[in-house]
Amino acid sequence: MKLRFIFVLMVVFAGLAVFARAPRVVAHRGHWKPEGSAQNSIRALVKADSVGVDAVELDVWIDSTGTVWVNHNRDINGVVIESADSATVARERLSNGEPIPTLRRFLTVASSLRPDIVLEVKTHADSLREDAAVDASIALVNELGLAPRTTYITFSRRAFERLVARSGCPAQFLSAVEPAELKALGATAADYNIIHFRKHPTWIKDLHELGLGVNVWTVNSPEDLRWCIDEGVDFITTNEPELLIEILSSAR
Ligand code: MG
Repeated sequence: MKLRFIFVLMVVFAGLAVFARAPRVVAHRGHWKPEGSAQNSIRALVKADSVGVDAVELDVWIDSTGTVWVNHNRDINGVVIESADSATVARERLSNGEPIPTLRRFLTVASSLRPDIVLEVKTHADSLREDAAVDASIALVNELGLAPRTTYITFSRRAFERLVARSGCPAQFLSAVEPAELKALGATAADYNIIHFRKHPTWIKDLHELGLGVNVWTVNSPEDLRWCIDEGVDFITTNEPELLIEILSSAR
């Protein structure tokens, strides 16, 4: 009887260990591959929620009149966001016909859905405008009550330091620096391209030993997804959230 009890405990702990190690699924620019969706669209956000992702990644730019927009590229249909006014940007449409979403609209929808937010502040040509993008993003996240569910990411060291100083939220750096340097920057996690982890095989372990998390992008093939799972990363940012969810559930 005692042996049986110990066995049951072992199974439970093994199960918990697997669960604890399972990486969180981050839908890169939302779930944009299905018909009718588009990168960084409201549809991609809703679709990501519907398939059960843990978080949705999005990119933001601020325009010349202070509105923050959700878009990956510097421009939308040739309109450069940071040098255009709000009325000009607002006329643009995504590839699925949706109007380009403001960050306010995107986060308002997100606040009623389950996924967490991974908000990337893009590197603006004008650093003061970039500062404004950081401040406006933090203000909107806080106003909409999303701070407990938001992680900030950026390639810009300047924006990163500002996010760490002002947001009070987890911040992951996208530009690959060595683990000890990342810790000194105040990051909560690395958010690096998979090529860096392939090139530096000890980094995942080194980051964990420093108390930092590991987010890997943009991982899409079954082989790379399985490699990240086996390596024990904490977040996988992917264009294939349904495939990753399927692999994770079959591994449990
Ligand atoms: Mg991004």
